[in-house]
Amino acid sequence: MADYEIPKLNPELDVPEIPALEPDKMAGLKPFVAAPAHQEPLGFPGELVDNWQQVAIDKMGELLGKYRSLQVYLDSCVKCGACTDKCHYFLGTNDPKNMPVARQDLLRSVYRRHFTFAGKYFPKLVGARDLTEEVLDEWYSYFHQCSQCRRCSVYCPYGIDTAEISMAAREIMDAVGKGQKYCNEILGKVLKIGNNLGLPEPALVDTLEGLEEDIKMDTGVDVRLPVDVKGAEVLLITPSADFFAEPHIDGLIGYAKVFHQAGISWTLSSYASEAGNFGMFIGSYDTMRKAALRIRQAALELGVKRIVVGECGHAWRVAYSFWNTLTGVGAGADDPFGQMLQKQLDPRYPQPQHICELTSDLIDRGALKLDKSANDHRVVTFHDSCNVARATRMGDRPGGQFEIPRKVIQSVCANYVDMAPDTIRQNTFCCGGGGGLLTDDLMEIRVKGAMPRMQALDQVMNENGVNTMASICAICKSQFSKVLPYYDKPMHMIASVHQLVSDSIILGAKE
Ligand code: SF4
Ligand code: SF4
Repeated sequence: MADYEIPKLNPELDVPEIPALEPDKMAGLKPFVAAPAHQEPLGFPGELVDNWQQVAIDKMGELLGKYRSLQVYLDSCVKCGACTDKCHYFLGTNDPKNMPVARQDLLRSVYRRHFTFAGKYFPKLVGARDLTEEVLDEWYSYFHQCSQCRRCSVYCPYGIDTAEISMAAREIMDAVGKGQKYCNEILGKVLKIGNNLGLPEPALVDTLEGLEEDIKMDTGVDVRLPVDVKGAEVLLITPSADFFAEPHIDGLIGYAKVFHQAGISWTLSSYASEAGNFGMFIGSYDTMRKAALRIRQAALELGVKRIVVGECGHAWRVAYSFWNTLTGVGAGADDPFGQMLQKQLDPRYPQPQHICELTSDLIDRGALKLDKSANDHRVVTFHDSCNVARATRMGDRPGGQFEIPRKVIQSVCANYVDMAPDTIRQNTFCCGGGGGLLTDDLMEIRVKGAMPRMQALDQVMNENGVNTMASICAICKSQFSKVLPYYDKPMHMIASVHQLVSDSIILGAKE
């Protein structure tokens, strides 16, 4: 199945033990480099520019001036070692450069050489390095072996965020013409067509009509999946994987049933048919903004009162943490269109709102008729997605991002078990495919990086009979569908949270 060794699981341990080091084991694993056709539409050079060292140093200087946090992170590490065994990629690959502190040092060493007094005059003493071709090569490998999951930052006494360092490194590499094909190709599609797949409006409409027919056949009820309906109350922004991938599509059907039963008018947009925003993965605020502005334009044109976001981890981070200043959804935009949108949206609801918050509120108000027994064949556990768990919140209480999805699951399933505490909530292990790594050219790191999550899952499968792992992230769902079989687990055990809702909701009698 694979021409590399699949890590062994040790279900005796909640968290894998520190592996024996195998230096440079993963140095050769790199994603495909973006071609000029992927780079240029985003405003990046098509290929490595002649004076790339200078361009890279200038870009680093620009980022240090723009993001104070970056400089603080590069200056404040005391090499305490607390983060070293916290990265799933280190635990799964044994490669010491996948230790968070070592990953940071790849950038820190060049920062010291060019931006600190000691590094300029006594480089060897402070571990400062020139930016050579070998260093750039290492950056390209190891900054694409970081899913920007932020688990290491939870354990760092200084809160150093390796994800932000990895984003900065990728931004510098894009600036010199060494971008990553997977992310940049997708961003090109979203900016041109409106979704990561490049799915044009007729294909989207056709897909949704097919799903309406499936629901009708299954339930006997006309549940709509509307597109571009002006005056709808809710605009649903969901990852485009919800339109075609399994188990995502079952989640989309679940959202539609929730809106239907609660009597909420809603619509999708063919212009902004993507919640995902890979601009965050490549560290480009400018690209992230361009993608997000499509959502603002759709919301203004459709005249909606609420914006709800479907199940997608990094999309919820962009929506929750950045949309306010990027687009004016929430508060913060000071341009006329942002202010126009702020006036248009209904202040009685969170803007934006996560679909789990919406469903949870409806459950509290008794607006959904649910039959838990429909899920009695399942014993469910929940995989907290990194970006939701460590970079956002849901609802109005701290920890809502942990409690609300669990509450929704437990409202529709009688049998629920959590995985080991060190592997869930803010300590959650990444699925292994986040941060722009969900591409086949990085399959080896995806499989190896999934090992800590697989181990915790293995425990609850053995001890509690868990047969379903629910998730609220499109990337996690795709990643698990692919890697579960490598660990001898059924690929269909990964489920959308709203798939569980969908199966339990009582819409009406079947004809
Ligand atoms: S952010 Fe996540 S993937 Fe990156 S170094 Fe930290 S733990 Fe590893
Ligand atoms: S835990 Fe923080 S301070 Fe300690 S080595 Fe890691 S990044 Fe540096």
